Amino acid sequence: MLLSTTRAQGLPARPLRLRGRERFGTVGPVTSDLALAVDIGGTKLEVGLVDTDGRVQRRARVATPAREGAEDMFGALAGLVAEVLADGADPVVCGVGTGGPMTRGGAAVTPINIPAWRGFPLHGRLAELTEVPTFVDNDAKALALGEGWIGAARGWRDYVAMVVSTGVGGGIVLDGCLLDGADGNAGHIGHLIVEPDGHRCGCGAVGCLEAEASGTAIAAITGRPASEAGPDVVVRTGTLVGRAVASVANLLDLRLAVVAGSVALGFGDPFFAAAQSEIDRSARLDFSTGTVIRPGLLGADGPLVGAAAVGWRGLGVPVGP
Ligand SMILES: [Zn+2]
Repeated sequence: MLLSTTRAQGLPARPLRLRGRERFGTVGPVTSDLALAVDIGGTKLEVGLVDTDGRVQRRARVATPAREGAEDMFGALAGLVAEVLADGADPVVCGVGTGGPMTRGGAAVTPINIPAWRGFPLHGRLAELTEVPTFVDNDAKALALGEGWIGAARGWRDYVAMVVSTGVGGGIVLDGCLLDGADGNAGHIGHLIVEPDGHRCGCGAVGCLEAEASGTAIAAITGRPASEAGPDVVVRTGTLVGRAVASVANLLDLRLAVVAGSVALGFGDPFFAAAQSEIDRSARLDFSTGTVIRPGLLGADGPLVGAAAVGWRGLGVPVGP
């Protein structure tokens, strides 16, 4: 059991107050093995309970009130937490995946597609609300943890996970560890330059993967939503994603890319075939030859499973390979 590992490691070292009583201390039994998982996206907010095998036991969701006030937004989230915990469920940790950018650990989050929150103190507010140890990370990094835990990257110690949907996000696991970087932003594969003479990206650069292959970019370039894209757009998008993956494989000595997100999964086989073809063409070093790209396996559970993994990781419980 994962939690016995936590206790064996003596984490956390000091007793933590969990809704009024000490339960996860250095002595005494752990009576719960659930994570409260929180996914904050531009379209929906979702909260769930996820067990130590990665199963989603309960969930509640609501459309994101992205353009209302900061407290309206947090109130909607708090309502979901209350709904999920209504019958006395007692999670030991809260894990959160959210769009960025954010300062390290989610002390202040500014999700690009949620104008209601600009520098919102998400970590502090959720920790206060839930009274359990709380850990916040980028949603694509969360998905990388989730896919390594029980998804398409299970058993792999080195891989990149990507989300190709409205935007393009990513997370990198190397030597079995999720990369954080100086401010926690490692893995922003959406801003690798894949078309030097391409389109202007929201970040200010030109030709970023996100400016060429995201759902937003495809709609801007073609005048139609990605769900109505023709075969040429599907192949072009796959090729550009493959180009970015090849660069990452060459740079980091990893051989697997797991790709989720509505655009990639909606495009399906032709997208993945085009991406694989470009990887085969561009990842040519001895160690990068044979790099593969696969669809993510977590489906609609991915955001909650990933958020739970952020929580377990924060507690020091291994959820990866
Ligand atoms: Zn960019």
